[in-house]
Parts: sequence; structure tokens; C-alpha cells
Amino acid sequence: MTRPRILSGMRPTGPLHLGHLTGALDNWRRLQDSYECFFVVVDWHALTSEYANPSDIRQNVLEVTIDWLAAGLDPARSTFFLQSLVPEHAELHLLLSMITPVSWLERVPSYKEQQQEIQDRDLATYGFLGYPLLQSADIMIYKANAVPVGEDQAPHVELTREVVRRFNNFYGRVFPEPQTLLTETPRIPGTDGRKMSKSYGNAVYFKDPPEVVREKIKPMVTDPARKRRIDPGTPEICPVFALHRAFSSVETQAWAAEGCRTAGIGCLDCKGRLIDHLLHRLEEIHERRPRYASRPDDVWDILREGSRRAREAARATMEEVRAAMKIRYPVA
Ligand code: SF4
Repeated sequence: MTRPRILSGMRPTGPLHLGHLTGALDNWRRLQDSYECFFVVVDWHALTSEYANPSDIRQNVLEVTIDWLAAGLDPARSTFFLQSLVPEHAELHLLLSMITPVSWLERVPSYKEQQQEIQDRDLATYGFLGYPLLQSADIMIYKANAVPVGEDQAPHVELTREVVRRFNNFYGRVFPEPQTLLTETPRIPGTDGRKMSKSYGNAVYFKDPPEVVREKIKPMVTDPARKRRIDPGTPEICPVFALHRAFSSVETQAWAAEGCRTAGIGCLDCKGRLIDHLLHRLEEIHERRPRYASRPDDVWDILREGSRRAREAARATMEEVRAAMKIRYPVA
């Protein structure tokens, strides 16, 4: 029996951190049991914002793939691939651009948000406006039945569904409408209390050894009202407690909440327990990661083989697309 297919991807913008674990990878690992999974490193998407300085992309492709393997994704059960090794994505993107109204792209919420947030690069480009449509092509070319996303990415799947409907309406039914598999993505704060992100320099990475994890967590910001050990605190507003919620046992969460409210524990005790849980959670990742990091050629082979498999599926879809759009000629 064939399993439903999902597609999900990541931009190679840097090594992966705790936010990626709870936001995507824990979920992807579980999905491998019940879906045929395609996981893509979207290097062309990285270029939509990093076009002026692409020199890190190659290394980041490798780092992201190593981090996926370290997180327990299995290339024997899922297809890992690199977007630019399947150039049919670009062809489908171009063909979809013929039928997609510009207003659909302009109203994708992340378009304006990111233009406002990212001030150090000019994002008023054709490529940046079109990147949600490139995502649609990424999804549609594999006829994915579902796409696992956090709430912020849900409008992109909705756009894809609209594009699918428009395409099928013009040319006959070629594509299924992908469902949104909404993933709960707990907010993972970084060490400064803002959202964990490479660009804020506040992240705990998979590749950080235990002593670096300790060094990063110990000075982490806490509830500012707890200036002294005897001051009671409010765990709900403390970033350390948000990490307890994501990574610690229920017992430790109860201990931290009670101890914080009654000033029964100090922040250093609280962080100490958090470090224990984080290191426990990262144990397997720390064990697996060096195995792959020391053999980059094997990692490239995994991407090469996955991209070959992905390309077979993409080529079959493009045959159908060209036929449906009446641009298949007897000369190929
Ligand atoms: S005791 Fe824990 S939860 Fe409370 S403020 Fe300190 S670090 Fe935060």
C-alpha cells in the first residue's frame, strides 16, 4: 500500500539549533513512520535573501544535512535532496508564474513582514516576491498530499492550494491539493529571551558540545523581577522556564514553577536542572553528529542519491505538466 507523501524543507542558512528540533525535526522524525517523506534543502530559497553573499551556502547545505542525520532522520526511509540538483523545480516555478496573479504573492503575510524585519538587504526583488511560488512548485512537483508546517507557514500552503486549483482549472487535473499538517511549534527563546535565531546570536546549536551548552545557559536572562534569591518570580514570563516546558520532564517543570514562585530555588539551580535535561535531550545528537561530520563525502552521497530519486519523480510530473499545457513536442 502506498503511503501518502509529504514534502518539507529547510533553507541552508546556518547550523541547526534547539528551535529547529521542536519546530520541525521531532515532528519529521515521527512522520517517517506513516508518510513517504521528501525532505529538501532549499538552496535556491537561501539565495532569495543571500544573493549578494552566497559563499556560505555550500557549507550550510552540508551542515543542515548533517544536523538532520544527527537528529535521527533516516535517509533509508526518507528522500533527502538538494533543490538545485532537481532543476525541474525551476521549470515548474516558471510555468506556474504564468498563471499566478501578482496580488496573490503580495498578500502572503511573510512578504511584507520580512521586508520590514530584514533591513540590511534589499528584498524588493523579483525572486523574493516569487519565493512562495517556488515553494508551491517544490510541493506540487512531488504531488505531495500534505505539508507539515507551523502556523506562520500555513498561508504558503494555502497559496499552493489556490495555485493547484487554478492550474487544474485551466489544464485539467494534474495536481492534488496538499493538506496543511499543522505542527505545534512552541516558542523557543534564545539565551537573550528573544526568539532563538542564528541572526540574534542567541542560539544553542546541535553542534555545541556540553561545555558550550552550559556556558550559554548559565548567563541566560530570567524573570527580571527576581533580582535576589529571596524574590519570588513568575515562571510564565521567564525564558528559562519556556525551555523547561519544551525540554524538561513534567516533574522538573513542576519543581521549577513551584520553586520560582515561592523563592524556594535560585535561578542557578533552575538553570542547572535545565542544562541536565537539555544535555540528556542532545545526547543522541551529540553521539551521532561527529560520525557524519567526519565523513562529509558520505553526506554528499546521501544528497546525491536522494536528489536522483527526487528527480525521477519530478521528471514524471513535468511530462504530465507539459502535456497538459500543450508544450510537449515530438522533438525531445
Ligand atoms: S527560578 Fe527559574 S523560572 Fe524562576 S526566574 Fe529563575 S530561572 Fe526563571
